[in-house]
Amino acid sequence: TVNHLFGLVRAHCPAEPDAKVFIETSEGARYSYADLLARSGAYAGALRALGVKPGDRVAVQVEKSAEVIFLYLGAARAGAVFLPLNTAYTGPEIAYFLGDAEPALFVCDPAREADLSAVARAAGVPQLRTLDAAGRGSMAEAADAASPDFADVPRGPDDLAAILYTSGTTGRSKGAMLSHDNLVSNALTLAQYWHFTERDVLIHALPVFHTHGLFVATNIVLATGGTMLFLPRLDAKKILELMPRATAMMGVPTFYTRLLKEPGLTREAASHMRLFVSGSAPLLAETHREWEQRTGHAILERYGMTETNMNTSNPYEGPRRAGTVGFPLPGVTLRVVEPETGAPLGPEEVGMIEVKGPNVFLGYWRMPEKTAAELKVDGFFITGDLGKIDRDGYVHIVGRGKDLIITGGYNVYPKEIESEIDALPGVVESAVIGIAHPDFGEGVTAVVVPGAGAPDEAAVLAALEGRLAKYKCPKRVLFASDLPRNAMGKVQKNLLREKHADLYRG
Ligand code: ATP
Ligand code: MG
Repeated sequence: TVNHLFGLVRAHCPAEPDAKVFIETSEGARYSYADLLARSGAYAGALRALGVKPGDRVAVQVEKSAEVIFLYLGAARAGAVFLPLNTAYTGPEIAYFLGDAEPALFVCDPAREADLSAVARAAGVPQLRTLDAAGRGSMAEAADAASPDFADVPRGPDDLAAILYTSGTTGRSKGAMLSHDNLVSNALTLAQYWHFTERDVLIHALPVFHTHGLFVATNIVLATGGTMLFLPRLDAKKILELMPRATAMMGVPTFYTRLLKEPGLTREAASHMRLFVSGSAPLLAETHREWEQRTGHAILERYGMTETNMNTSNPYEGPRRAGTVGFPLPGVTLRVVEPETGAPLGPEEVGMIEVKGPNVFLGYWRMPEKTAAELKVDGFFITGDLGKIDRDGYVHIVGRGKDLIITGGYNVYPKEIESEIDALPGVVESAVIGIAHPDFGEGVTAVVVPGAGAPDEAAVLAALEGRLAKYKCPKRVLFASDLPRNAMGKVQKNLLREKHADLYRG
Protein backbone atom coordinates (compact mmCIF):
# COMPACT_ATOMS: atom_id res chain seq x y z
CA THR A 1 0.00 0.00 0.00
CA VAL A 2 1.13 3.49 -0.79
CA ASN A 3 0.21 7.06 -0.13
CA HIS A 4 -1.45 8.02 -3.41
CA LEU A 5 -0.77 11.78 -3.36
CA PHE A 6 2.77 11.57 -2.04
CA GLY A 7 3.42 8.78 -4.55
CA LEU A 8 3.14 11.49 -7.21
CA VAL A 9 6.19 13.23 -5.78
CA ARG A 10 8.33 10.44 -4.43
CA ALA A 11 9.90 9.55 -7.77
CA HIS A 12 11.65 12.93 -7.87
CA CYS A 13 12.87 12.89 -4.28
CA PRO A 14 16.38 11.61 -3.63
CA ALA A 15 17.19 10.61 -0.06
CA GLU A 16 20.57 12.37 -0.29
CA PRO A 17 21.12 16.13 -0.71
CA ASP A 18 20.72 17.14 -4.33
CA ALA A 19 21.06 20.25 -6.44
CA LYS A 20 17.71 20.20 -8.21
CA VAL A 21 15.69 23.21 -7.05
CA PHE A 22 12.05 22.61 -6.19
CA ILE A 23 11.19 26.08 -4.86
CA GLU A 24 13.15 29.30 -5.04
CA THR A 25 11.65 32.16 -3.04
CA SER A 26 11.78 35.86 -3.91
CA GLU A 27 14.36 36.26 -1.12
CA GLY A 28 16.58 33.79 -2.99
CA ALA A 29 16.15 30.83 -0.60
CA ARG A 30 16.32 27.51 -2.45
CA TYR A 31 14.78 24.21 -1.47
CA SER A 32 15.72 21.00 -3.26
CA TYR A 33 13.71 17.82 -3.79
CA ALA A 34 15.76 16.22 -1.02
CA ASP A 35 14.59 19.08 1.23
CA LEU A 36 11.04 18.36 0.16
CA LEU A 37 11.36 14.73 1.24
CA ALA A 38 12.96 15.56 4.60
CA ARG A 39 10.83 18.56 5.44
CA SER A 40 7.48 16.98 4.53
CA GLY A 41 8.54 13.96 6.61
CA ALA A 42 9.32 16.26 9.54
CA TYR A 43 5.91 17.95 9.23
CA ALA A 44 4.18 14.56 9.08
CA GLY A 45 6.04 13.55 12.25
CA ALA A 46 5.16 16.86 13.91
CA LEU A 47 1.48 16.44 13.06
CA ARG A 48 1.49 12.99 14.61
CA ALA A 49 3.24 14.32 17.71
CA LEU A 50 0.55 16.99 18.00
CA GLY A 51 -2.11 14.31 18.08
CA VAL A 52 -3.33 14.65 14.47
CA LYS A 53 -4.66 11.30 13.34
CA PRO A 54 -5.40 10.02 9.81
CA GLY A 55 -8.63 11.62 8.60
CA ASP A 56 -8.27 14.64 10.91
CA ARG A 57 -8.46 18.08 9.33
CA VAL A 58 -5.50 20.46 9.51
CA ALA A 59 -6.73 24.02 8.92
CA VAL A 60 -4.10 26.48 7.72
CA GLN A 61 -4.34 30.25 7.31
CA VAL A 62 -0.82 31.45 6.65
CA GLU A 63 1.13 33.60 4.20
CA LYS A 64 2.66 31.87 1.21
CA SER A 65 6.02 30.18 1.83
CA ALA A 66 7.88 27.03 0.85
CA GLU A 67 7.11 25.66 4.33
CA VAL A 68 3.34 25.69 3.67
CA ILE A 69 3.92 23.41 0.71
CA PHE A 70 5.94 21.06 2.91
CA LEU A 71 3.16 21.17 5.50
CA TYR A 72 0.62 20.34 2.77
CA LEU A 73 2.67 17.31 1.74
CA GLY A 74 3.36 16.37 5.36
CA ALA A 75 -0.39 16.33 5.98
CA ALA A 76 -0.83 14.01 2.98
CA ARG A 77 1.89 11.69 4.28
CA ALA A 78 0.31 11.64 7.76
CA GLY A 79 -3.06 10.73 6.20
CA ALA A 80 -4.55 14.03 7.40
CA VAL A 81 -6.90 16.28 5.43
CA PHE A 82 -5.32 19.57 4.38
CA LEU A 83 -7.62 22.58 4.69
CA PRO A 84 -6.15 25.86 3.45
CA LEU A 85 -7.98 29.10 4.21
CA ASN A 86 -7.85 32.44 2.41
CA THR A 87 -5.45 34.83 4.18
CA ALA A 88 -8.02 37.63 3.80
CA TYR A 89 -10.57 35.93 6.05
CA THR A 90 -11.37 37.86 9.22
CA GLY A 91 -11.85 36.45 12.72
CA PRO A 92 -15.63 35.92 12.35
CA GLU A 93 -15.11 34.21 8.99
CA ILE A 94 -12.42 31.95 10.44
CA ALA A 95 -14.81 31.12 13.30
CA TYR A 96 -17.31 29.82 10.75
CA PHE A 97 -14.77 27.64 8.92
CA LEU A 98 -13.27 26.20 12.11
CA GLY A 99 -16.72 25.45 13.48
CA ASP A 100 -17.74 23.78 10.22
CA ALA A 101 -14.57 21.76 9.64
CA GLU A 102 -13.68 20.88 13.27
CA PRO A 103 -9.96 20.57 12.62
CA ALA A 104 -7.61 18.83 15.05
CA LEU A 105 -5.08 21.61 14.50
CA PHE A 106 -5.19 25.20 13.27
CA VAL A 107 -2.04 26.85 11.95
CA CYS A 108 -2.15 30.65 11.67
CA ASP A 109 0.17 33.59 11.17
CA PRO A 110 2.03 34.57 14.38
CA ALA A 111 0.84 38.17 13.90
CA ARG A 112 -2.75 36.98 14.27
CA GLU A 113 -2.20 34.43 17.03
CA ALA A 114 -3.54 36.67 19.81
CA ASP A 115 -6.70 37.46 17.86
CA LEU A 116 -7.34 33.97 16.47
CA SER A 117 -6.48 31.81 19.48
CA ALA A 118 -9.73 32.88 21.17
CA VAL A 119 -11.60 32.10 17.95
CA ALA A 120 -10.00 28.66 17.75
CA ARG A 121 -10.73 27.93 21.41
CA ALA A 122 -14.37 28.94 21.01
CA ALA A 123 -14.64 26.62 18.00
CA GLY A 124 -13.24 23.75 20.09
CA VAL A 125 -9.99 23.39 18.11
CA PRO A 126 -7.60 21.50 20.41
CA GLN A 127 -4.27 22.74 19.00
CA LEU A 128 -2.99 26.04 17.62
CA ARG A 129 0.43 26.58 16.01
CA THR A 130 1.96 29.38 13.93
CA LEU A 131 3.86 29.79 10.68
CA ASP A 132 4.94 33.10 9.11
CA ALA A 133 5.87 34.19 5.57
CA ALA A 134 9.52 33.34 6.23
CA GLY A 135 8.54 29.83 7.32
CA ARG A 136 9.15 30.52 11.03
CA GLY A 137 6.84 29.88 13.96
CA SER A 138 5.86 27.19 16.42
CA MET A 139 4.69 24.83 13.64
CA ALA A 140 8.09 25.02 11.93
CA GLU A 141 9.72 24.44 15.33
CA ALA A 142 7.58 21.34 15.84
CA ALA A 143 8.89 20.08 12.48
CA ASP A 144 12.50 20.94 13.49
CA ALA A 145 12.02 18.73 16.54
CA ALA A 146 10.63 15.78 14.54
CA SER A 147 12.56 13.18 12.58
CA PRO A 148 12.66 13.77 8.81
CA ASP A 149 12.16 10.03 8.28
CA PHE A 150 8.49 9.24 8.24
CA ALA A 151 6.78 6.04 7.13
CA ASP A 152 3.85 7.33 5.05
CA VAL A 153 0.36 6.46 6.18
CA PRO A 154 -1.18 4.44 3.33
CA ARG A 155 -3.93 6.34 1.53
CA GLY A 156 -5.85 5.05 -1.48
CA PRO A 157 -7.16 6.98 -4.49
CA ASP A 158 -10.61 7.53 -2.95
CA ASP A 159 -9.42 8.68 0.47
CA LEU A 160 -10.00 12.31 1.42
CA ALA A 161 -6.89 14.46 0.83
CA ALA A 162 -8.21 18.00 1.23
CA ILE A 163 -11.18 20.17 1.95
CA LEU A 164 -11.12 23.38 0.03
CA TYR A 165 -13.74 26.04 0.53
CA THR A 166 -15.14 27.62 -2.65
CA SER A 167 -14.49 31.31 -3.23
CA GLY A 168 -17.92 32.44 -2.07
CA THR A 169 -18.65 34.40 -5.25
CA THR A 170 -22.29 33.30 -5.41
CA GLY A 171 -23.06 32.74 -1.73
CA ARG A 172 -21.56 31.24 1.39
CA SER A 173 -18.38 29.21 0.74
CA LYS A 174 -18.86 25.46 0.63
CA GLY A 175 -16.24 22.90 1.68
CA ALA A 176 -15.37 20.75 -1.35
CA MET A 177 -14.05 17.31 -0.38
CA LEU A 178 -11.23 16.27 -2.71
CA SER A 179 -9.82 12.78 -2.85
CA HIS A 180 -6.19 11.80 -3.35
CA ASP A 181 -7.05 10.78 -6.90
CA ASN A 182 -8.94 14.00 -7.68
CA LEU A 183 -5.59 15.73 -7.16
CA VAL A 184 -3.31 13.10 -8.66
CA SER A 185 -5.28 12.38 -11.84
CA ASN A 186 -5.72 16.08 -12.57
CA ALA A 187 -2.03 16.84 -12.05
CA LEU A 188 -0.94 14.01 -14.35
CA THR A 189 -3.46 14.91 -17.05
CA LEU A 190 -2.50 18.58 -17.03
CA ALA A 191 1.22 17.89 -16.95
CA GLN A 192 0.85 15.82 -20.07
CA TYR A 193 -1.61 18.15 -21.82
CA TRP A 194 0.59 21.19 -21.23
CA HIS A 195 3.86 19.30 -21.92
CA PHE A 196 5.41 19.86 -18.49
CA THR A 197 8.79 18.26 -17.74
CA GLU A 198 11.43 18.44 -15.05
CA ARG A 199 13.10 21.21 -17.08
CA ASP A 200 10.18 23.58 -16.59
CA VAL A 201 10.58 26.62 -14.39
CA LEU A 202 7.20 28.01 -13.34
CA ILE A 203 6.62 31.60 -12.22
CA HIS A 204 4.29 31.09 -9.26
CA ALA A 205 2.73 34.33 -8.00
CA LEU A 206 -0.69 32.88 -7.12
CA PRO A 207 -1.90 32.33 -3.57
CA VAL A 208 -1.60 28.75 -2.29
CA PHE A 209 -4.94 28.65 -0.47
CA HIS A 210 -6.91 28.35 -3.71
CA THR A 211 -7.31 25.48 -6.19
CA HIS A 212 -5.45 27.39 -8.92
CA GLY A 213 -2.18 28.00 -7.06
CA LEU A 214 -2.14 24.75 -5.08
CA PHE A 215 -3.90 21.98 -6.99
CA VAL A 216 -3.17 23.20 -10.50
CA ALA A 217 0.15 25.07 -10.46
CA THR A 218 1.96 23.40 -7.54
CA ASN A 219 0.70 19.89 -8.25
CA ILE A 220 1.80 19.97 -11.90
CA VAL A 221 5.33 20.82 -10.80
CA LEU A 222 5.18 18.13 -8.11
CA ALA A 223 4.06 15.61 -10.72
CA THR A 224 6.92 16.37 -13.08
CA GLY A 225 9.84 17.35 -10.85
CA GLY A 226 10.23 20.90 -12.15
CA THR A 227 11.05 24.17 -10.41
CA MET A 228 8.84 26.93 -9.02
CA LEU A 229 9.86 30.56 -8.57
CA PHE A 230 7.68 31.77 -5.70
CA LEU A 231 6.49 35.36 -5.46
CA PRO A 232 4.27 36.23 -2.52
CA ARG A 233 1.81 38.04 -4.76
CA LEU A 234 1.32 39.56 -8.19
CA ASP A 235 4.23 41.90 -8.89
CA ALA A 236 4.47 42.73 -12.59
CA LYS A 237 8.03 44.11 -12.42
CA LYS A 238 9.36 41.05 -10.58
CA ILE A 239 7.61 38.72 -13.00
CA LEU A 240 9.33 40.52 -15.89
CA GLU A 241 12.67 40.07 -14.16
CA LEU A 242 12.06 36.33 -13.77
CA MET A 243 10.93 35.64 -17.33
CA PRO A 244 14.42 35.21 -18.85
CA ARG A 245 15.01 32.16 -16.64
CA ALA A 246 11.48 30.76 -16.54
CA THR A 247 9.47 28.70 -19.01
CA ALA A 248 5.85 29.04 -17.88
CA MET A 249 3.45 31.15 -15.87
CA MET A 250 -0.02 30.49 -14.53
CA GLY A 251 -2.14 33.48 -13.62
CA VAL A 252 -5.57 35.02 -13.40
CA PRO A 253 -6.60 37.65 -15.98
CA THR A 254 -5.41 40.49 -13.72
CA PHE A 255 -1.83 39.21 -14.15
CA TYR A 256 -2.04 39.82 -17.88
CA THR A 257 -3.72 43.23 -17.74
CA ARG A 258 -1.12 44.42 -15.18
CA LEU A 259 1.82 43.08 -17.17
CA LEU A 260 0.50 44.76 -20.31
CA LYS A 261 0.97 48.11 -18.54
CA GLU A 262 4.74 47.43 -18.29
CA PRO A 263 6.72 48.95 -21.17
CA GLY A 264 9.32 46.23 -20.58
CA LEU A 265 6.91 43.55 -21.77
CA THR A 266 8.24 42.75 -25.24
CA ARG A 267 8.80 39.74 -27.49
CA GLU A 268 12.41 39.75 -26.36
CA ALA A 269 11.45 39.75 -22.65
CA ALA A 270 9.14 36.76 -23.13
CA SER A 271 11.36 34.84 -25.54
CA HIS A 272 12.48 32.23 -22.98
CA MET A 273 8.88 31.42 -21.98
CA ARG A 274 6.96 28.62 -23.64
CA LEU A 275 3.55 28.88 -21.93
CA PHE A 276 1.22 31.48 -20.43
CA VAL A 277 -1.95 30.12 -18.83
CA SER A 278 -4.99 32.07 -17.61
CA GLY A 279 -7.93 30.88 -15.55
CA SER A 280 -10.25 31.45 -12.56
CA ALA A 281 -12.09 34.31 -14.27
CA PRO A 282 -12.88 35.25 -17.88
CA LEU A 283 -10.01 36.65 -19.93
CA LEU A 284 -11.10 39.49 -22.21
CA ALA A 285 -10.61 38.74 -25.90
CA GLU A 286 -8.95 42.16 -26.08
CA THR A 287 -6.32 41.15 -23.50
CA HIS A 288 -5.70 37.93 -25.43
CA ARG A 289 -5.11 39.88 -28.66
CA GLU A 290 -2.91 42.54 -27.09
CA TRP A 291 -0.79 39.93 -25.33
CA GLU A 292 -0.22 38.05 -28.56
CA GLN A 293 0.78 41.24 -30.37
CA ARG A 294 3.19 42.30 -27.64
CA THR A 295 4.82 38.96 -26.79
CA GLY A 296 4.14 36.61 -29.69
CA HIS A 297 2.49 34.14 -27.29
CA ALA A 298 -1.19 33.22 -27.39
CA ILE A 299 -2.42 32.93 -23.80
CA LEU A 300 -3.85 29.49 -23.08
CA GLU A 301 -7.16 29.95 -21.27
CA ARG A 302 -8.60 27.16 -19.21
CA TYR A 303 -11.61 26.55 -16.96
CA GLY A 304 -11.76 24.94 -13.56
CA MET A 305 -13.34 25.19 -10.16
CA THR A 306 -12.79 24.18 -6.55
CA GLU A 307 -15.11 21.17 -6.86
CA THR A 308 -13.53 19.73 -10.02
CA ASN A 309 -10.00 21.11 -10.32
CA MET A 310 -9.71 21.55 -14.07
CA ASN A 311 -12.37 20.83 -16.66
CA THR A 312 -11.20 22.27 -19.96
CA SER A 313 -8.18 23.77 -21.63
CA ASN A 314 -7.40 25.40 -24.92
CA PRO A 315 -5.04 23.20 -26.93
CA TYR A 316 -1.31 23.24 -26.37
CA GLU A 317 -0.82 22.65 -30.07
CA GLY A 318 -3.48 24.09 -32.32
CA PRO A 319 -5.47 27.30 -32.18
CA ARG A 320 -6.15 28.85 -28.78
CA ARG A 321 -9.41 30.60 -29.37
CA ALA A 322 -9.88 33.91 -27.52
CA GLY A 323 -13.07 34.11 -25.48
CA THR A 324 -13.29 30.31 -25.11
CA VAL A 325 -11.95 27.91 -22.49
CA GLY A 326 -11.04 25.22 -25.04
CA PHE A 327 -11.84 21.51 -24.97
CA PRO A 328 -12.70 19.09 -22.16
CA LEU A 329 -9.49 17.54 -20.80
CA PRO A 330 -8.79 13.87 -21.53
CA GLY A 331 -10.97 11.78 -19.20
CA VAL A 332 -13.43 14.64 -18.56
CA THR A 333 -16.90 14.56 -20.11
CA LEU A 334 -18.60 17.93 -20.42
CA ARG A 335 -22.18 18.45 -21.54
CA VAL A 336 -24.58 21.37 -21.79
CA VAL A 337 -28.14 20.77 -20.65
CA GLU A 338 -31.39 22.66 -20.36
CA PRO A 339 -31.23 24.05 -16.78
CA GLU A 340 -34.81 23.17 -15.78
CA THR A 341 -35.22 19.72 -17.34
CA GLY A 342 -31.63 18.47 -17.67
CA ALA A 343 -32.30 17.62 -21.33
CA PRO A 344 -29.12 17.64 -23.45
CA LEU A 345 -28.65 20.63 -25.77
CA GLY A 346 -26.96 20.82 -29.16
CA PRO A 347 -23.97 22.82 -30.38
CA GLU A 348 -24.25 26.60 -29.95
CA GLU A 349 -27.18 26.25 -27.52
CA VAL A 350 -26.67 27.95 -24.15
CA GLY A 351 -27.44 25.95 -21.01
CA MET A 352 -26.04 24.58 -17.77
CA ILE A 353 -22.56 23.03 -17.93
CA GLU A 354 -22.20 19.62 -16.29
CA VAL A 355 -18.97 17.65 -15.94
CA LYS A 356 -18.01 14.10 -15.07
CA GLY A 357 -14.62 12.50 -14.62
CA PRO A 358 -11.89 11.55 -12.14
CA ASN A 359 -11.55 15.26 -11.33
CA VAL A 360 -15.04 15.55 -9.84
CA PHE A 361 -15.00 15.91 -6.05
CA LEU A 362 -16.52 13.58 -3.44
CA GLY A 363 -19.17 16.06 -2.29
CA TYR A 364 -19.62 19.08 -0.03
CA TRP A 365 -18.41 18.67 3.54
CA ARG A 366 -21.38 18.18 5.87
CA MET A 367 -23.89 19.30 3.23
CA PRO A 368 -25.56 16.05 2.11
CA GLU A 369 -28.61 17.77 0.60
CA LYS A 370 -26.54 20.20 -1.41
CA THR A 371 -24.28 17.37 -2.54
CA ALA A 372 -27.28 15.28 -3.63
CA ALA A 373 -28.77 18.23 -5.48
CA GLU A 374 -25.59 19.05 -7.42
CA LEU A 375 -23.88 15.68 -7.90
CA LYS A 376 -26.24 13.66 -10.04
CA VAL A 377 -26.62 9.89 -9.71
CA ASP A 378 -25.07 9.44 -13.17
CA GLY A 379 -21.88 11.11 -11.85
CA PHE A 380 -22.31 14.49 -13.52
CA PHE A 381 -21.70 17.59 -11.40
CA ILE A 382 -23.91 20.61 -12.06
CA THR A 383 -21.28 23.35 -12.22
CA GLY A 384 -23.62 26.34 -11.91
CA ASP A 385 -21.94 27.86 -14.96
CA LEU A 386 -23.87 28.62 -18.12
CA GLY A 387 -22.19 27.99 -21.41
CA LYS A 388 -22.21 26.42 -24.82
CA ILE A 389 -20.10 24.21 -27.03
CA ASP A 390 -19.48 25.73 -30.45
CA ARG A 391 -19.45 23.84 -33.75
CA ASP A 392 -15.70 23.25 -33.49
CA GLY A 393 -16.01 21.82 -29.97
CA TYR A 394 -14.66 24.82 -28.04
CA VAL A 395 -16.44 25.49 -24.76
CA HIS A 396 -17.65 29.03 -24.05
CA ILE A 397 -18.57 30.23 -20.56
CA VAL A 398 -21.52 32.57 -20.87
CA GLY A 399 -21.94 33.37 -17.19
CA ARG A 400 -23.07 31.92 -13.93
CA GLY A 401 -26.50 30.40 -13.42
CA LYS A 402 -26.92 32.63 -10.40
CA ASP A 403 -25.75 35.62 -12.41
CA LEU A 404 -28.66 35.31 -14.83
CA ILE A 405 -30.86 38.42 -14.90
CA ILE A 406 -34.59 37.93 -15.35
CA THR A 407 -36.13 41.15 -16.55
CA GLY A 408 -39.76 41.41 -17.57
CA GLY A 409 -39.80 37.61 -17.90
CA TYR A 410 -36.81 37.51 -20.27
CA ASN A 411 -33.51 35.79 -19.45
CA VAL A 412 -30.49 38.03 -19.91
CA TYR A 413 -26.90 36.76 -19.73
CA PRO A 414 -24.74 39.62 -18.42
CA LYS A 415 -21.64 38.49 -20.30
CA GLU A 416 -23.27 39.11 -23.68
CA ILE A 417 -23.90 42.72 -22.74
CA GLU A 418 -20.54 43.16 -21.06
CA SER A 419 -18.80 42.03 -24.28
CA GLU A 420 -20.68 44.67 -26.29
CA ILE A 421 -19.88 47.44 -23.79
CA ASP A 422 -16.23 46.40 -23.42
CA ALA A 423 -15.80 46.69 -27.19
CA LEU A 424 -16.78 50.40 -27.16
CA PRO A 425 -13.86 52.83 -27.54
CA GLY A 426 -12.88 54.40 -24.20
CA VAL A 427 -14.30 51.59 -22.08
CA VAL A 428 -11.81 49.73 -19.89
CA GLU A 429 -14.25 47.09 -18.64
CA SER A 430 -17.77 46.65 -17.39
CA ALA A 431 -20.01 44.55 -15.17
CA VAL A 432 -23.69 44.03 -15.84
CA ILE A 433 -25.96 43.21 -12.91
CA GLY A 434 -29.64 42.86 -12.14
CA ILE A 435 -31.10 45.28 -9.59
CA ALA A 436 -34.58 45.07 -8.11
CA HIS A 437 -36.95 47.07 -10.31
CA PRO A 438 -40.61 47.85 -9.60
CA ASP A 439 -41.76 47.17 -13.18
CA PHE A 440 -39.34 44.57 -14.52
CA GLY A 441 -38.51 42.44 -11.47
CA GLU A 442 -34.85 43.07 -12.18
CA GLY A 443 -33.48 46.01 -14.12
CA VAL A 444 -30.44 45.39 -16.31
CA THR A 445 -27.74 47.75 -15.01
CA ALA A 446 -24.25 48.36 -16.34
CA VAL A 447 -21.30 49.53 -14.25
CA VAL A 448 -18.62 50.88 -16.57
CA VAL A 449 -14.96 51.66 -15.87
CA PRO A 450 -14.17 54.56 -18.20
CA GLY A 451 -10.80 55.15 -19.91
CA ALA A 452 -9.61 58.05 -22.05
CA GLY A 453 -12.37 59.33 -24.32
CA ALA A 454 -15.05 57.29 -22.60
CA PRO A 455 -18.68 57.60 -23.71
CA ASP A 456 -21.27 58.96 -21.25
CA GLU A 457 -24.45 57.13 -20.27
CA ALA A 458 -26.44 58.33 -23.27
CA ALA A 459 -23.64 57.40 -25.67
CA VAL A 460 -23.34 53.87 -24.23
CA LEU A 461 -27.09 53.36 -24.55
CA ALA A 462 -27.11 54.75 -28.09
CA ALA A 463 -24.27 52.41 -29.09
CA LEU A 464 -26.09 49.36 -27.74
CA GLU A 465 -29.39 50.21 -29.41
CA GLY A 466 -29.73 48.13 -32.54
CA ARG A 467 -26.93 45.79 -31.43
CA LEU A 468 -28.92 44.20 -28.61
CA ALA A 469 -32.60 43.37 -28.25
CA LYS A 470 -34.36 46.13 -26.34
CA TYR A 471 -34.98 43.98 -23.23
CA LYS A 472 -31.23 43.32 -22.93
CA CYS A 473 -30.24 47.00 -23.03
CA PRO A 474 -29.34 48.46 -19.62
CA LYS A 475 -31.95 50.64 -17.93
CA ARG A 476 -29.09 52.62 -16.41
CA VAL A 477 -25.35 52.93 -16.99
CA LEU A 478 -23.27 53.81 -13.92
CA PHE A 479 -19.56 54.68 -13.83
CA ALA A 480 -16.89 53.56 -11.35
CA SER A 481 -13.10 53.96 -11.22
CA ASP A 482 -12.70 50.17 -10.87
CA LEU A 483 -14.65 46.97 -10.21
CA PRO A 484 -14.46 45.20 -6.82
CA ARG A 485 -12.43 41.98 -7.19
CA ASN A 486 -11.38 39.18 -4.85
CA ALA A 487 -7.91 37.63 -4.62
CA MET A 488 -8.53 35.44 -7.66
CA GLY A 489 -9.55 38.36 -9.86
CA LYS A 490 -13.25 37.52 -9.78
CA VAL A 491 -15.59 40.50 -9.97
CA GLN A 492 -17.64 40.64 -6.77
CA LYS A 493 -21.04 41.40 -8.28
CA ASN A 494 -22.73 40.88 -4.92
CA LEU A 495 -20.94 44.02 -3.66
CA LEU A 496 -22.08 45.98 -6.71
CA ARG A 497 -25.66 44.75 -6.26
CA GLU A 498 -25.63 45.73 -2.59
CA LYS A 499 -24.17 49.16 -3.31
CA HIS A 500 -26.80 49.99 -5.92
CA ALA A 501 -29.73 48.07 -4.38
CA ASP A 502 -31.94 51.16 -4.19
CA LEU A 503 -31.24 52.46 -7.71
CA TYR A 504 -34.77 51.87 -9.01
CA ARG A 505 -36.62 52.38 -5.75
CA GLY A 506 -38.44 55.63 -4.94
P1 ATP B 1 -18.70 29.95 -5.07
O1 ATP B 1 -18.86 28.60 -5.70
O2 ATP B 1 -18.47 29.88 -3.61
O3 ATP B 1 -19.78 30.90 -5.45
P2 ATP B 1 -16.59 30.39 -7.04
O4 ATP B 1 -17.42 29.54 -7.93
O5 ATP B 1 -16.12 31.70 -7.58
O6 ATP B 1 -17.35 30.62 -5.63
P3 ATP B 1 -14.16 28.92 -7.41
O7 ATP B 1 -14.33 27.47 -7.32
O8 ATP B 1 -12.92 29.55 -6.94
O9 ATP B 1 -15.31 29.59 -6.59
O10 ATP B 1 -14.32 29.41 -8.90
C1 ATP B 1 -14.83 28.59 -9.93
C2 ATP B 1 -15.60 29.44 -10.92
O11 ATP B 1 -14.74 30.38 -11.56
C3 ATP B 1 -16.21 28.64 -12.05
O12 ATP B 1 -17.41 28.00 -11.69
C4 ATP B 1 -16.40 29.72 -13.11
O13 ATP B 1 -17.60 30.45 -12.89
C5 ATP B 1 -15.22 30.66 -12.86
N1 ATP B 1 -14.14 30.44 -13.84
C6 ATP B 1 -13.03 29.70 -13.71
N2 ATP B 1 -12.27 29.75 -14.82
C7 ATP B 1 -12.93 30.54 -15.69
C8 ATP B 1 -12.67 31.00 -17.03
N3 ATP B 1 -11.55 30.68 -17.68
N4 ATP B 1 -13.60 31.80 -17.61
C9 ATP B 1 -14.73 32.15 -16.96
N5 ATP B 1 -15.02 31.77 -15.71
C10 ATP B 1 -14.13 30.97 -15.08
MG1 MG C 1 -18.61 27.87 -7.54
